[in-house]
Amino acid sequence: MEIKKYLSAEQLEQWRRMVDEASNIAVLGHSGPDGDAMGSMLALASYLQGLGKKVTPITPNACPDFLRWLPGAEQVIFFRNKQRKGVKALEECDLVFCLDFNGLDRLEEMRRCVEHSKARRIMIDHHLDPEPMAELMVSDPRAAATCEVLFCIFHQLGAYEGLSQDIATCLYCGLMTDTGAFAYNSNRAELFHIVGMLIAKGIDKDKIYRNVYYSYTESRLRLMGYLMYEKMEYFPEEHVALFALTEKEMVHFNFVRGDAEGFVNMPLQIKGTILSISLREDTEKPIVRVSLRSVGDFPCNEMAERFFNGGGHLNAAGGWLPKPIDTAIQTARQAIKSLSEKG
Ligand code: 5GP
Ligand code: MN
Repeated sequence: MEIKKYLSAEQLEQWRRMVDEASNIAVLGHSGPDGDAMGSMLALASYLQGLGKKVTPITPNACPDFLRWLPGAEQVIFFRNKQRKGVKALEECDLVFCLDFNGLDRLEEMRRCVEHSKARRIMIDHHLDPEPMAELMVSDPRAAATCEVLFCIFHQLGAYEGLSQDIATCLYCGLMTDTGAFAYNSNRAELFHIVGMLIAKGIDKDKIYRNVYYSYTESRLRLMGYLMYEKMEYFPEEHVALFALTEKEMVHFNFVRGDAEGFVNMPLQIKGTILSISLREDTEKPIVRVSLRSVGDFPCNEMAERFFNGGGHLNAAGGWLPKPIDTAIQTARQAIKSLSEKG
């Protein structure tokens, strides 16, 4: 089976030139880095390091604990925690890779440093409607993950033969997490062909699964039970579920970063549900984070844009509200009610 060639002949030349001419490269992922952001950053960082480049992976804030086992994760600078180091790395680099995001606002506080930097930019992504934010942009909304696009680019560059097990592990992690362990957005033979090619590099896919999904604390499981039992509101007419998590509850359940991961998907298990919305008080800023997940053709991204200052994909989107949680809940209820009002 053919592996997709994303780069035209000119783009291939452009990529080679840009990478050849760079010696100090920053590899950036989006705020709230997930398995695809971290996986693609670390795979690319390792590849570029193999070419003898100095590479610094940076994200606006920290990744969850369940991604820290990824090979090379200890190199990542979490900008909010290590601002001086992050600013210096962005000032000194001559090439920036933007991975797994379609607009510079997903860089939050890092955005200004990146905009002011003279470094050239390459973006690799799979979100809809990319902003023109880089000299070379490889964006495919049909791809399951940025890691899929990156795998194809590695292949096109002739790097598959020499691909290390660590790089394959990082890429697989991105494919797995962005498809809910191949439960959605993954019904394509090419994708499974790529998975086969990664397994051929010696990865342990079952261990990667356990590292990501079976590594929670007891309190996290109890928090999940509490949210589903006590907090979830169900709107039978609209077939929508909504729940909100406050900072006080997080403290009570010894919340650590990443503990809320996957909660928003759970109400979709209720037969006939088309949409699940979760609200969560941010622990660092006075805002409420919103996550949306849908089944079928309900456009989460449209609702995120219209009501929650955000965006994303058809079946997974997010945003935020600059309000207290109770007011945010009201906004979410209005968004839900607007569905039945439209008819
Ligand atoms: P999550 O619910 O996991 O935080 O985000 C799901 C998806 O929604 C992300 O992959 C991203 O595409 C999108 N998303 C989340 N938060 C934001 C946001 O604040 N702005 C935009 N434009 N998209 C977001
Ligand atoms: Mn992604």
